[in-house]
This record gives sequence, structure tokens and C-alpha cells, in this order.
Amino acid sequence: MLVVGSIGYDTIYGPIESGTSLLGGSATYCSIAASNLTNVAILAVVGSDFKPEHFTTFKEHGINIDGIEQTFNEETFAWSVRYNHDDINSRETLDTQLNALATFNPQIKDVHKQEKILFLANMDPALQIQVIRDMGTRPQWIGLDTMNFWIDSTLETLTEAIRMVDIVFMDEGELRSYAQSNNVMVAAHEILKLGPSFVVAKRGEHGVILINEEWAFAVPAFPLTTVVDPTGAGDSFAGGFMGFLDSHNDISTAVFKRAIITGSIMGSFAVGALSTEGISHVTYANFNKRFNDFSILTQFDPLEPNETFPWK
Ligand code: AMP
Repeated sequence: MLVVGSIGYDTIYGPIESGTSLLGGSATYCSIAASNLTNVAILAVVGSDFKPEHFTTFKEHGINIDGIEQTFNEETFAWSVRYNHDDINSRETLDTQLNALATFNPQIKDVHKQEKILFLANMDPALQIQVIRDMGTRPQWIGLDTMNFWIDSTLETLTEAIRMVDIVFMDEGELRSYAQSNNVMVAAHEILKLGPSFVVAKRGEHGVILINEEWAFAVPAFPLTTVVDPTGAGDSFAGGFMGFLDSHNDISTAVFKRAIITGSIMGSFAVGALSTEGISHVTYANFNKRFNDFSILTQFDPLEPNETFPWK
């Protein structure tokens, strides 16, 4: 699977912990989450200040970093965010410095062109389009994530990018503002009309809805008593979801549903610690436990054929 997106340094004022210049970026969280499930190559740019130890972080997860370009004329993309202490679903971007990302010109290598899955993590939609075009042969599944920054600044280009992909990931607020509708289902169907087969509506601590023309599948977020830092939950979700698809040849509805659960669990690990600490230390045993707990959380029996509701 090829992941293209931002690698950055985040300054986070979180609900429990805070920190400056922490490893972050959409491609970072996504590729680390996906690396638990499949082979991942990353395509991104970093600047002169990027620390060698952070290249090591990617390598330790077996991520192919040949596609990370380092430019010495600019600093690394930097983002600063404050979470609302009373409602961790709401956050305010304090500052976005595109830096090296502003002049990034992704160079697709021949090995990248063979990838079955392409995930376009949150970045400039013009670059997302360029990457799809440069892939040559179209990957089997293309996913795209975005955020308000791009909806507000490059709406038309974003729409052009959306027309070219299969799965669109947006959070509730982004869906509403993109489609100018206060109804998430209506907004998702507006996006389906543009061409994608699936919309993943992310609802923070309320979970996720996967929507296509025929059906929708909703799950809550994995219930947690402590959320240290919500940053990267969406990207880790996408990494888990797309990584799970990449590890299956026959992609059925059942596979999609498990992909949603896998993504949700990756998101739950991401928010458990500051920056990438949570998503970096997921073990098979911890994942498996949450997968089983999720099954218990969401399972209920439909009526038996000879059973009726106690209806008055
Ligand atoms: P999430 O919490 O999943 O929405 O993702 C947060 C990550 O996205 C942070 O690590 C940021 O570095 C990165 N990010 C924030 N704004 C942008 C942007 N405009 N373009 C690309 N990446 C961004």
C-alpha cells in the first residue's frame, strides 16, 4: 500500500497532555497504523529540521521510506492545535505552516506504481490529483482524506480529486461544510454522486459510518475512559481500514465491515498517548483483545423467524 500525505511536527495542547514539535502528520499516523497489517511505502516531504531518529521510527515499523524526500531549503510542515477540554471532539487549529509541503512535488517511483492500494492522506488536493495521474495504472482502491483547511481554500480542486477516488474519508463537520448540508447522510450521498463508491463519515468519540449507495454500516468508537491526545485518530483509522483492505484479495461487504472495526481500533490506540506514541506500540495481543471486545460491544441477535416484538 502506498501512503502519500504530510509528515510534520505538531504542537499539541491536548485534553490531558501537551507538547511541542512532536512527530505527526497525516501520512505518519496512517502509515504506522497500516504497517501492522500490510507492507507500506510512504511518499512525503520533510525539511531541514527533520530529526534522524524520526526516520528510524518509520524504519522500525518496516515502512519503506525511499519515497521520503528531504529538502534543506525549508523546514518541515508544522501544525499547532488546541483541544476543547469540555468536548474533545472539538479542536481549534492555531497555526499551519506548510513549509516544505508548499513546494512538494511527489515523485512516484516504479515500485510505487505496482501498489494495489493508494491512500491520499490529508494534503493539498492538487497534489492528490497529481499522484493519481502519475501512478499510471490505476490502483484497485484509492482512498482520500481531507480537512477543513483544504475545503475552505481549494474547494474546486478538492472536488476534482474526489471524482477520481473510490473511498472518501471526512469527519462530520467537514462533510457538512463540504456539501453545505447539516445532514451527514445527505452530505455523504452528495459525495457518492460525484463518483466514489464509499464515504467514511468520522464522528470522533461517536464512531464511524460507512456509507454507500445501497447500505450503511455504523459502529461506535471503542469506549475508552482516558483520551490523552485525539490527534491522528482519523489518520490511524484510515491506515487500519486501508491496510486491512490491502491484506485481502477478495473484498466483500464483510471485509469492509471488519475494515471499519480495524480502523476504529487503530484510532483508539492512537488517542491513548501523546503524538505517535499510542499508535507506535500496538501489539497483536492488544489489538486482538480490542477486536473481541468490539464484537461483544456491537453484537445483538435479530428476531428468530417465530419470534415477534412485544408490541401493544
Ligand atoms: P487527524 O487528527 O487525524 O485529523 O490528523 C492530524 C494530523 O494531520 C496532524 O498530525 C497534522 O500534522 C496533520 N495536518 C494538520 N493540518 C494539515 C494540513 N492542512 N495538511 C496536511 N496535514 C495536516
